[in-house]
Amino acid sequence: MRKLLLPGLVLPPLTEAAPLPDEAALAEVAAALERRARRRLGRSLAIREVDAGSCNGCELEIHALSNAFYDLERFGLRFVASPRHADVLLVTGPVTKNMREALWRTYQATPDPKWVVAAGDCALDGGLFAGSYAVLGGVAEVIPVDLHIRGCPPTPLQLLEGLLALLEPESATAR
Ligand code: SF4
Repeated sequence: MRKLLLPGLVLPPLTEAAPLPDEAALAEVAAALERRARRRLGRSLAIREVDAGSCNGCELEIHALSNAFYDLERFGLRFVASPRHADVLLVTGPVTKNMREALWRTYQATPDPKWVVAAGDCALDGGLFAGSYAVLGGVAEVIPVDLHIRGCPPTPLQLLEGLLALLEPESATAR
């Protein structure tokens, strides 16, 4: 046991150092997102996240938006617990057969006007899981999608840039 524990105390970690996030770019995009949401909705953006069958890699990046480092609530971006309070459904993962009904009902429960954002490569076309017996495919197989954010997984900054593009005046009108 001592042989196992001692190296862990004296040797450096084997993992690579995490890349430093670009704090200035993040603050700029988040502030622009808040301004655009206020212009289009008259208030800040409320997001309901839906995991339709992901590996949870996308969720880790989405959760990072709320952690002490990114702290997106300071820009008014809120994750809400119910689709009834949401402007945006942020859907991750390939849609599994088990989640089809839940995703459809969540879409129905979200009041108009609403947008659907499919986050991650799996949400586009099933990604790594395409062809699995348990998977239907991308999010668009079940509900209409307004914007895809690519990446496996997309970074917090890519997620913010995607949401910003969603609120472009000339982008798809909310349903
Ligand atoms: S896009 Fe990548 S991280 Fe996201 S659910 Fe698929 S495999 Fe996981």
